Amino acid sequence: MPDPFRNFVDGSWLDTASGATFEKPNPARTQDLIGHFPESGQEDIDAAVTAARKALPAWSDTPAPQRGEILRRIGDLLTERKQELAFEETREMGKPFAETCGDVQEAIDTAYYAASETRRLFGRTVPSELPDKFNMSIRRPVGAVGIITAWNFPIAVPTWKIFPALACGNTIVFKPSEDAPHSGMLLTRLFADAGVPAGVFNLVQGGAVSGAALVKHPGIDAVSFTGSNDAGSNIGEVCGRLNKRLSLEMGGKNAQIVMSDADLDLALEGVLWGAFGTTGQRCTATSRLILHEAIHDVLVERLIEQVQKLVLGYGNDEGVNVGPLINEKALEKVTRYVEIGRTEGATLRIGGRRATQGALGDGFFFEPTLFTGVTPQMRIAREEIFGPVLSVLRATSYEEAVRMANATRYGLSSSIYTRDVRLAYRAMKDIEAGITYINGPTIGAEAHMPFGGVKQTGNGHRDGGWEVFDFYTETKTVYVDYSGRLQKAQMDNVAS
Ligand code: NAD
Repeated sequence: MPDPFRNFVDGSWLDTASGATFEKPNPARTQDLIGHFPESGQEDIDAAVTAARKALPAWSDTPAPQRGEILRRIGDLLTERKQELAFEETREMGKPFAETCGDVQEAIDTAYYAASETRRLFGRTVPSELPDKFNMSIRRPVGAVGIITAWNFPIAVPTWKIFPALACGNTIVFKPSEDAPHSGMLLTRLFADAGVPAGVFNLVQGGAVSGAALVKHPGIDAVSFTGSNDAGSNIGEVCGRLNKRLSLEMGGKNAQIVMSDADLDLALEGVLWGAFGTTGQRCTATSRLILHEAIHDVLVERLIEQVQKLVLGYGNDEGVNVGPLINEKALEKVTRYVEIGRTEGATLRIGGRRATQGALGDGFFFEPTLFTGVTPQMRIAREEIFGPVLSVLRATSYEEAVRMANATRYGLSSSIYTRDVRLAYRAMKDIEAGITYINGPTIGAEAHMPFGGVKQTGNGHRDGGWEVFDFYTETKTVYVDYSGRLQKAQMDNVAS
């Protein structure tokens, strides 16, 4: 195996103890094998966690701005290698090259942002209730962190977690998705080239079994996970039992509302990008379009016209708008949901089948699909499909539109198109979601803003922005008594 197709532990590229591997094909051209990647077992996880623990004291003692310098170098290298990384990412997971360039750019932005935060890891100083006493809080790293991610943003999402974790002085064992192992390896090589010390960042490849072994490992102090609700709930049970700090970022069923006064050109452009960008395989993808009845028919007709023009294909080819689904299982799932939509009585307006014309037959392509006549009770309006399937609902008022938007167990992203400033402000408050866009699609996160969801999408933490630094640090409360005598809080501070 070439170096990049191994695990990376304590500064060395290693085979797994068992020699077990898994195959990863290009989802657009399944004959194109990306490689055989290691399937890590308990021994491999042990080695990686041991390395992370060993590296912890020196890394956490390194002044934070010096850690920031390494993050800055990582940002520079990501910038230098942007095109190469994006090409390989597209080859591995399918979204068009322009989108994977955006994915790498998000990692670059996150690197520089995290580097700047290393000069701002603020604590607080607070007045004491006693004389000659000084109170403050400082931040300490959490320890060795396990990071487990999904495949759909295989460069950006891991770095949302890895960079702040490193900035705060933690060490890391990273398990990327088995559907995007090559991106994980290319990132790892880049970190090593940027001078991340041995053991501070370790890579283990594999699937759910490897991930589960990492989560329950006693040497792992905290886990940050992005992926499905099924996997996240399992991880939550384990971390709850073991009292481990846990951040969960999971699924979405995001709605775009379009009111009767909206700029329809803008709303149309927004939904096309939100619903069919990344083939609908984004946690923030627009999977429901809630249209005010006054503009419902006209917008649906215009949308169908535009959907017909979307070009499917291999994302590294010129002019492609929509790539494949990630694998055979995803193809089966999307096909099943189209069937469910039909059975539930929704009207299939366009798409609904695997796309097999010409070269598309070599990949996991699915036609961009639109259902109208969808009601909030239908499964296609409530469950995450994670594919290019858009469900259109008709609302008679702002209140009904918001009720529909909120009728799901998820709460990640949301959007409303309106020219009425009062409705825009009401929506910011009324929609149950971690993110609301006004006159923009449900996708478009910026690296320096908190990212995450409410309800079943998450467990209250955020990736991105300033809040993520709280997850990767513990607060230590410090009292300095310079009075030279014993002062008893709650006893010496009250007049007797
Ligand atoms: P997945 O849950 O199948 O896999 C995610 C990761 O978890 C993979 O690395 C996998 O190997 C690992 N894993 C699976 N079961 C595990 C277990 N029991 N213990 C430990 N690790 C385990 O998800 P996926 O198919 O890769 O990604 C799609 C899902 O991710 C969608 O639901 C999507 O909405 C969600 N997602 C959420 C966000 C967000 O920020 N909220 C971002 C991207 C994707």
